[in-house]
Amino acid sequence: MTAQSQPVMNAFSVDVEDWYQVSDFEDQVRLDEWDRYESRVVANTRRILGILGEFKVKGTFFILTWNAERHPALVEEIAAEGHEIATHGYSHRLLYEQGRDLYRRDLERSQEILHKILGRQAYGYRAPSFSVTTKSMWALDVMLEAGLEYDSSIFPVQDSLYGIPGALRFPFVIHQAGRRKLVEFPMTTTRFGSRNLPLGGGAYLRLLPYQYMRWGMRRVNREGEPALVYLHPWEIDTQQPRLKSRGKRGISTHYIRLDSMESKLRRLLSDFRFAPMRDVLAQRGWLHS
Ligand SMILES: [Zn+2]
Repeated sequence: MTAQSQPVMNAFSVDVEDWYQVSDFEDQVRLDEWDRYESRVVANTRRILGILGEFKVKGTFFILTWNAERHPALVEEIAAEGHEIATHGYSHRLLYEQGRDLYRRDLERSQEILHKILGRQAYGYRAPSFSVTTKSMWALDVMLEAGLEYDSSIFPVQDSLYGIPGALRFPFVIHQAGRRKLVEFPMTTTRFGSRNLPLGGGAYLRLLPYQYMRWGMRRVNREGEPALVYLHPWEIDTQQPRLKSRGKRGISTHYIRLDSMESKLRRLLSDFRFAPMRDVLAQRGWLHS
């Protein structure tokens, strides 16, 4: 088999946050009250670890480090199974609402927590709800200063909460300071006419038929490029408590088709090849392995 006929290695990722920590519930679930809500993140993350184990797939886990502070053993367990640990920040506040100084503290705090648990910081970062937009490009400087090598927060689509529609669709160097560079691994889209359609995972995977995801990922791989899949531990949890919310967009998709996610995840894992994000970036020469 020639190198060209090898199936493309895609990137797999999980944003490790609990069901009540999402942007959709932000107005009614305050950060200083998070401890009052039923914690389900450990059990749900373990279920995902179990499924990945069945398919022998390793991925990247972006830890919301408020959870790491309370469940350090979970972070150790994920790392011990050979997955990459990255950071999803500490508080899950949208970057363009935090501003530069709060963001710096949030990111530094998350790096300190991971360092305390693992003896090293994270190389990769994903912003809450993809909130690196044209309103928060200052965040890239802060990321480099915090020791990050790659960011995975830009969705090259138009959306009311996030997105930079004209952004490049595949990994690129987004920022440089001296000899240090920050690589961006954008969320996956497929080109349709003059528009980018979102693939990625999360709500798009949950709400839309699996065939859409498979069609889109195959198109991306035919371009010779890796797709990037993401999901959240709460998305496979049909038993999670119910909160009423109109979300950030006037309608919340949080509880829709949770029952479809596990089987879609299994199909993805059997239909495509996956590796942690840092490995995919290194394999393609964007980062040193
Ligand atoms: Zn998140």
